[in-house]
Amino acid sequence: RAKDDGRRRYVLFSPSMRHELNQKRQIELRIRQAIDACEFEMFFQPLVDNNSRLAGFEALLRLPDGRGGFIPPTDFVPLAEEIGVINQIGAWVVHHACHVAATWPAHLTIAVNLSPAQFFGAVPIGVIVRDAIVESGLEAGRLELEITEGLLLEANESVVEQLAELKRVGATIVMDDFGTGHSSLGNLSKLPFDKFKIDKSFVAGVLGTENANVPVLNTIVKLGRNLNMKVTVEGIETPEQANFFRNLHCDYYQGYLFGRPMPRVDAAALILSDILIDMAADYPASSVRR
Ligand code: C2E
Ligand code: MG
Ligand code: MG
Ligand code: MG
Repeated sequence: RAKDDGRRRYVLFSPSMRHELNQKRQIELRIRQAIDACEFEMFFQPLVDNNSRLAGFEALLRLPDGRGGFIPPTDFVPLAEEIGVINQIGAWVVHHACHVAATWPAHLTIAVNLSPAQFFGAVPIGVIVRDAIVESGLEAGRLELEITEGLLLEANESVVEQLAELKRVGATIVMDDFGTGHSSLGNLSKLPFDKFKIDKSFVAGVLGTENANVPVLNTIVKLGRNLNMKVTVEGIETPEQANFFRNLHCDYYQGYLFGRPMPRVDAAALILSDILIDMAADYPASSVRR
């Protein structure tokens, strides 16, 4: 707020506010350039099952900053929502993710993040997803759509109907960042979720001195069981954290311990190395002539 003390009445923005505004304009410019020149990149982060075997990947969007680095999605996705281009970007994300996953072995899933705005666009999200499935040839059940609790705050009749449509298309519906938002337990059972992801903020503190979250986490996983939902934990960084959640009997695990978000070629190499585990098992060392 400008000080009205007679001397500084023209100062509308402090230097730090001006800096923030410039940075926002820079990112906005990068977003628009990236849309025009198809410069968005998609990284893939592995998800593993209880045997540490590869189960699928999450598609994570990256915006090149033009200097060899990336602007993280936490910095540009909210801005893309604000300037009204997230639907355009999001449609590309769905299509590209389906096309890449269609080249993988059929047991691997692909998870895509959806913004709430994608349920309020000109083209219904069900139509976009159906088109992507048909064009790519991906089996619909391999596509997981991750939505956050933010959408449920606006869960009017239209949102509920569109979620039902996505289920009819055959996609898997995942609640992301579970435990961070305001969703009531009622929403969780009323809406057609197949799976939820315990937010990484629960993971970081779990092996600390207090362990205050342990009964809560136990209850959350049991809730998933009772509602017939699969449970994923994200943000696993250490073997200790992995063991803790394995003991709670979650279904899937994701985090730097199992792999960082990586380019498509590295994801392909990881898929191959996971397949080689089976081949090694088919040829036990004792049967190999030396
Ligand atoms: P998210 O969907 O919860 O994705 C997980 C985030 O946690 C990713 O951050 C991932 O890199 C990070 N992560 C994974 N494992 C670990 C770990 O072990 N430790 C820590 N500290 N972090 C880990 P990223 O890629 O920066 O994405 C941030 C968020 O941006 C995503 O959170 C998602 O909400 C959003 N986002 C990403 N791609 C898209 C997209 O295509 N569309 C939309 N609408 N949102 C996206
Ligand atoms: Mg996600
Ligand atoms: Mg998440
Ligand atoms: Mg998260």
